[in-house]
Amino acid sequence: MSEEVKPESVSLYPASAAATPEQEVVCIFGTGDLGRSLGQRLLQSGYRLVYGSRKPHSCGPIPPGAQVMSHEAAAQSTSLVFVCVHREHYDFLETLAPQLNGKFLVDVSNNLEKNMYPEANAEYLQRLIPGAHVVKAFNTLSAWALQNGPSDANRQVYLCGNNPEAKQAVAVISTKLGFTVQDRGSLSAARELEDFPLQLFPEWRLPMRLTVGLTAFFFFYLLTRDVIYAYVNEGRDISFRIMMSLANKVFPSVSLILLSLCYLPGVIAGFFQLYRGTKYKRFPDWLDRWMLCRKQLGLIALALASLHVLYTLIIPIRYYVRFRLAGSTISQIKNNKTSSFDTTMAWRTDSYYSIGALGFGLYLLLGISSLPSVSNALSWREFSFIQSKLGYLTLFFCTFHTYLYGWDRFLYVSQYKWYSPPGYMLCLVVPSLVLVFKLLLHAHTHTQKNNTFKLM
Ligand code: NAP
Repeated sequence: MSEEVKPESVSLYPASAAATPEQEVVCIFGTGDLGRSLGQRLLQSGYRLVYGSRKPHSCGPIPPGAQVMSHEAAAQSTSLVFVCVHREHYDFLETLAPQLNGKFLVDVSNNLEKNMYPEANAEYLQRLIPGAHVVKAFNTLSAWALQNGPSDANRQVYLCGNNPEAKQAVAVISTKLGFTVQDRGSLSAARELEDFPLQLFPEWRLPMRLTVGLTAFFFFYLLTRDVIYAYVNEGRDISFRIMMSLANKVFPSVSLILLSLCYLPGVIAGFFQLYRGTKYKRFPDWLDRWMLCRKQLGLIALALASLHVLYTLIIPIRYYVRFRLAGSTISQIKNNKTSSFDTTMAWRTDSYYSIGALGFGLYLLLGISSLPSVSNALSWREFSFIQSKLGYLTLFFCTFHTYLYGWDRFLYVSQYKWYSPPGYMLCLVVPSLVLVFKLLLHAHTHTQKNNTFKLM
């Protein structure tokens, strides 16, 4: 610290706690939540810390070992300043322009909502002090995360700026603090970084909406066909079936459709490429967005398939099922008549369960291989083999499982209550189409390969 700034500075801690002269000095403007947490980590990482505050003599608590000064004095003590002040208060920085000229300014600010201001906060700061080199960084970390140190979800410091030395200086500090640095380019990327903390599970939004929409549709569809129909037409109250039977129809139906929706965009993309005659053209935005949320669609599909398995496994312990079983046994005893073993039925149910179990096993494999720790250990070829080849096989098994469930029921008029097809038929439409289209694409690629081979 230079001699002339000494009278304005206040060290809140004994000299013994102060830093040794060779330590690098870093300055933070603002002694609020983020300023304090960041300061604490900087001190722990061996930096000497100087705060610039409006009230150097009466500011809130600061980490032991730090010094507090006026903004002017603090700015002169270092070449790098973290501006931990809300954007609304940036105007005071304009008066500090002479002291901040040539310095590296780190803008950590965020906004309460997107597009609050015409320009990004960091660009605004650069405009206020054109002589400084502004770097946008640390805004994606919370004060809490900074205080607790890097953890899995908070390991990255995204930064951007126009001056390479300024970015390098911030990158070195970030690394020393234990973070990994992601350089997002020039300061024009600042708005994108400022929007990061405002996003709430962005890639889950579309899959969640689809799941809620499909679940609601199947629930009300099946409720009408199964429960309301029985009440209106036969005067029977079977509303208790909502809890188990209905749920166990809704979950697999939605799961199968979601699984097929993971593969439908790939098929559509294939047809796009065929139609355009090239694979070097961009896909429409909606298809891009759809492709990007396939993992989430698949994970929700897996969760619903797991529920289906669980619900199926507990069927035998249901009161209703035990009651019906006992009733049928008693009536056989009463009538002294044993029902004969139906081999076709045995084949049908065993195949249905077996194919379902195989499908679910592959479903689990797909889910496990999408975990970052597993997928990172796979080569791209291995990953795409599992996700694509085994993925289609999973879709095939699950679709076939549903066809086996239906068996010959589609032939019976009684199945079409109020002229509506059973739920399982509806959920077969998309997966069947996806499988047929995939087969067509595969056949086309195969023919083309053969033709090229013949020409060679
Ligand atoms: P805060 O707790 O409200 O502190 C802001 C500090 O700014 C105050 O302590 C004050 O320090 C200074 N200040 C207030 N009014 C001022 C004015 N009119 N002129 C000059 N300085 C003024 O806010 P914070 O949570 O630390 O956030 C600071 C910045 O970090 C914001 O831009 C925020 O978006 C960003 N951020 C915060 C977090 C977080 O988890 N809190 C995470 C990421 C980014 P003095 O009294 O010492 O002057």
